Amino acid sequence: MHFETQIIHAIPVDKLTGAVSTPIYQTSTFQQQAPGVHNGFDYSRTNNPTRKVLEDLIAELEGGTHGFAFASGLAAIDAVIKLLCSGDEVLAVDNIYGGTFRIFTQIYSKFGINIKFTDTSEIINVVDNLSPQVKFVWLETPTNPTLKISDITEIAKAAHSNGSLLIVDNTFASPALQNPLNLGADIVIHSATKYLAGHSDVIAGLIAVKNHALAEKFKFIQNSSGGVLSPFDSWLTIRGIETLALRAAKHSENAIKIAQYLQTVEHVQNVFYPGLKSHKNHDVASKQQIGGYGGVVSFTLKHDSIEAASKFTQLTGLFKLAESLGGVKSLICHPAQMTHKSIPAQSRIEAGISDSLIRLSCGIENAEDLINDLKIAFGRLDFILANEFSADSKVSVK
Ligand SMILES: *Cc1c(COP(=O)(O)O)cnc(C)c1O
Repeated sequence: MHFETQIIHAIPVDKLTGAVSTPIYQTSTFQQQAPGVHNGFDYSRTNNPTRKVLEDLIAELEGGTHGFAFASGLAAIDAVIKLLCSGDEVLAVDNIYGGTFRIFTQIYSKFGINIKFTDTSEIINVVDNLSPQVKFVWLETPTNPTLKISDITEIAKAAHSNGSLLIVDNTFASPALQNPLNLGADIVIHSATKYLAGHSDVIAGLIAVKNHALAEKFKFIQNSSGGVLSPFDSWLTIRGIETLALRAAKHSENAIKIAQYLQTVEHVQNVFYPGLKSHKNHDVASKQQIGGYGGVVSFTLKHDSIEAASKFTQLTGLFKLAESLGGVKSLICHPAQMTHKSIPAQSRIEAGISDSLIRLSCGIENAEDLINDLKIAFGRLDFILANEFSADSKVSVK
């Protein structure tokens, strides 16, 4: 079956009533036939029929055997870290999501779990940093916001030969583009808040695995720590996933057109998009992102300043200035002042997130309209740079 058919039919018709849309089982507890005798549901933290549909769905879409739904992407990440013990180390991609950086360095460091970072887009950096203490290799590919690509298949081999598990945060690709479990990863994580739910209306996290022993551990952690997704948010996420194939295709189609347009703009210094031939690991992206290159495009300005980028993000109309990504509406974000504000300027710039880096989350609108919106914004920026910035020497041009 093709992916778009698989999605629709992996969402079952309700067995009890025949309801075509998954019912929201808004209940905390379930009547039992005799003490401990029930139909697999006794208490909704442990198991809930609506959540179970979503959990089975993510397992199937990621080519796994078991799925788990959490109250946020970070709650899912938290559950994965709980597999570790004091003294264990994690080797992670250096462009890691800010919230993941924070939970490791400010929460789990207190419990003796350490994380080190390397540029995983070069396999040699992974190999050189492996040691017996490294229990997890942790990837995001593409990364946020510089769209760095790492080779999942090769890194899985390196991790496994060291006895480490490979964890892939697949949020930016979604299962419509890339299936890390099929490429050798052991655990896939999603912030379903982004492409999976897809409508900027829910916070949710998912895990998928293909190994029974790992699934048992996650079932235990999920029930013990309790950060589960509610029935209503499970339903919203299922509802979003129904159109994932259509949306993912449109996001990628719009993003490549926008990336190509940005390459022609006078004010633009660099464009980051895995679908461009100029991208460092375009070949790796083509090999592993079989469903497309995704909806996020980043670029820097020749006028590389916080002020210029900040202005630009206020000049678009269709691209709304907001954090997050992966929804139907196009969004624009200035990482230096928003998502990556907590990183000291020097480290941020070293990580490739320069002052003027702007991230676009391309929605599902018409590509021509989106490009026109950017054209108008660049026209206004042109005027502002010529008049305000060059005349005003107080504005720093870095
Ligand atoms: C947003 C995001 C997260 C965190 O997910 P929440 O649902 O916001 O908790 C984790 N990883 C990546 C790559 C993200 O983009």
